[in-house]
Amino acid sequence: MYAAGDVRIENVPDPQIIEPTDAVIRVTRTCVCGSDLWPYQKMERIDMGRVMGHEAIGVVEDVGAGVQRIKRGDFVIMPFAFSDGTCAFCHDGLQTSCVHGGFFGTPEVAGAQAEAVRIPLADGTLFSIGAHPDDALMPSLLTLSDVMGTGHHAAVIARVTPGKSAAVVGDGAVGLCGVIAAKRLGAEQIIILGRHADRIALAMDFGATNVVSERGNAAVERVRELTGGYGVHSVLECVGLEQAMNTAISIARPGGAVGRVGVPQEQTIPGSEPAFYNNVTVGGGPAPVRAYIEELLPDILEGKIEPGHVFDRTVRLEGVPDGYRAMNDREAIKVMVRP
Ligand SMILES: [Zn+2]
Repeated sequence: MYAAGDVRIENVPDPQIIEPTDAVIRVTRTCVCGSDLWPYQKMERIDMGRVMGHEAIGVVEDVGAGVQRIKRGDFVIMPFAFSDGTCAFCHDGLQTSCVHGGFFGTPEVAGAQAEAVRIPLADGTLFSIGAHPDDALMPSLLTLSDVMGTGHHAAVIARVTPGKSAAVVGDGAVGLCGVIAAKRLGAEQIIILGRHADRIALAMDFGATNVVSERGNAAVERVRELTGGYGVHSVLECVGLEQAMNTAISIARPGGAVGRVGVPQEQTIPGSEPAFYNNVTVGGGPAPVRAYIEELLPDILEGKIEPGHVFDRTVRLEGVPDGYRAMNDREAIKVMVRP
């Protein structure tokens, strides 16, 4: 990506082992993220393009001399953040705060919308599932790189509890995975706030029980109507814009919690007053998806959850620029890339 709206496919040097703790993986599947759309809409022009992408599954091609756990030929899931797996925060299951960690697809570390990608701290970062999985499982496994783990994080932080109510603000891929996560954790009522027919239909498939397509105060009133006047116990905020956050805080019932995973586009958190007077807990941040793979993977392998349905378009690398456009125009929910 060179600037907002300017995505190109170019030949770049092959990724190499730089540090002994690195690995290089050949990318089997990658995708375009809703959070890639923020730079797609706003990025200032730069001379050297940024290699985008932070979600991938693939096969290990090469490992550095210091890599012990990950082997050549392993089929691996690459979380969107790299982490050493050994520091205090990795031990706490918060790998996105790893003291040696960082993020893929940044100006510092090349991204995964490519044929191959260099993985720093391979032993801590990669999750090996050993043998090559069935093709049909690829889309769902790919969601463990980001969107399924992120939706799950929103549900965990929002304290989704069996038998209680939850609402999901945002009908993008993360919000849809949030519906799966809320159902998986036992929420009895799951309200999806969104307005795109295809996404709403998928949300209902995933377990949503009610749809609210209004916005602003009308949305808040509608959620209250659906919840005996009180609002929901848990809110998953999966957008990142001020209005979404305002809505999220306003539909939480007193004592409820908001788990926010939408990348914030503002410096301040709105809704300070209602959050305070209603004792609403507001938390969240970059999901430690590395920590959640172990918990979510068995459900995918057993077919209990199928988050891969969020991909409604597949392209080759040449199709990535149009994939960005399609997601930005809300023509596609999430675009998978098969390099
Ligand atoms: Zn760490």
